[in-house]
Amino acid sequence: MQGFRTVIELTDQLWGVKHNGTCYELCSTLKGQRGKRGIMARKRTLLAVFAHPDDESFGIGGTLAHYARQGVRVVLVCATNGEAGEIADPSLATRETLAQVRQAELRCAARQLGIAEVIFLGYRDSGMKGSPDNQHPHALINAPAEEVVSRLVGIIRRVRPDVVITFEPNGGYGHPDHMTIHRHTVAAFHAAGDPDRYPEQGAPWQPARLFYTAIPRSVFREIRQRLQEMGVDTRDIEERERAGLGWPDEQVNVVLDVSDSVEAKWRAIHCHRTQLGPKSIFLHIPEDVARTILAREYFALAYPPPAPGERKYDLFENGTVSLG
Ligand SMILES: [Zn+2]
Repeated sequence: MQGFRTVIELTDQLWGVKHNGTCYELCSTLKGQRGKRGIMARKRTLLAVFAHPDDESFGIGGTLAHYARQGVRVVLVCATNGEAGEIADPSLATRETLAQVRQAELRCAARQLGIAEVIFLGYRDSGMKGSPDNQHPHALINAPAEEVVSRLVGIIRRVRPDVVITFEPNGGYGHPDHMTIHRHTVAAFHAAGDPDRYPEQGAPWQPARLFYTAIPRSVFREIRQRLQEMGVDTRDIEERERAGLGWPDEQVNVVLDVSDSVEAKWRAIHCHRTQLGPKSIFLHIPEDVARTILAREYFALAYPPPAPGERKYDLFENGTVSLG
């Protein structure tokens, strides 16, 4: 297996990445093969952690499908069953059946997007800020942080992702569940590689990168302007824009072209039938315009901290760092 050692040394030299025992995935994969027979490269893995069934499709369905098409193992955590969501058509669900129906809608979307595994944490949807759902004892926002973080650490250590994606701190538009799962995911991301934290949750694993989904403010502006041109009432969007809707453009680090996966995203969005009510933006925008908007997805790099103005065009670009 002398040949492997040469390749490893070359890899280290070419990429200059051997710092404090860390090296890029290719390097550690090759090292791992030195004592084995055959070549079994570890599959690149992406873990997305969101709050409700539909967050994955409306938000970054194109990204999930794009990477699944490339052979990346895509795993999704959904913290609640979306019990407080709308019921667009009473023939689809009742308040009592909505959780079950939305789980099925998410499984439908996962099939469209090529998601390999969906993990439901089973908390209750906390509803919009100020709604009675906030008070429910099983609501995600009322779950002890230690409990949720511990469970997420266990998932990270089992799934061993290279890249983790969750909401930005404001959850896009301030939904309490989005903000809560953001906090817990960030905490779990940083705890998962520490052998002293949650030792009962398995062997440590430090994912290389953490990204936030982050729709730039300019994109919301563009969507609003298009809707206005079509005579659609956009007061709701304007109000949200004034409240800080969207992410500052200069802090968007990745603009991902997902035009190869727009069809899958479109189909996944339409799996979430209970959420496509009369106010849905997708019922107002002509399909060709919607598809143009859907062809790009945006991320802020949270870890490792990006250089000011750093832009990437791939979540896995430059390889991945594997610790330990
Ligand atoms: Zn949501």
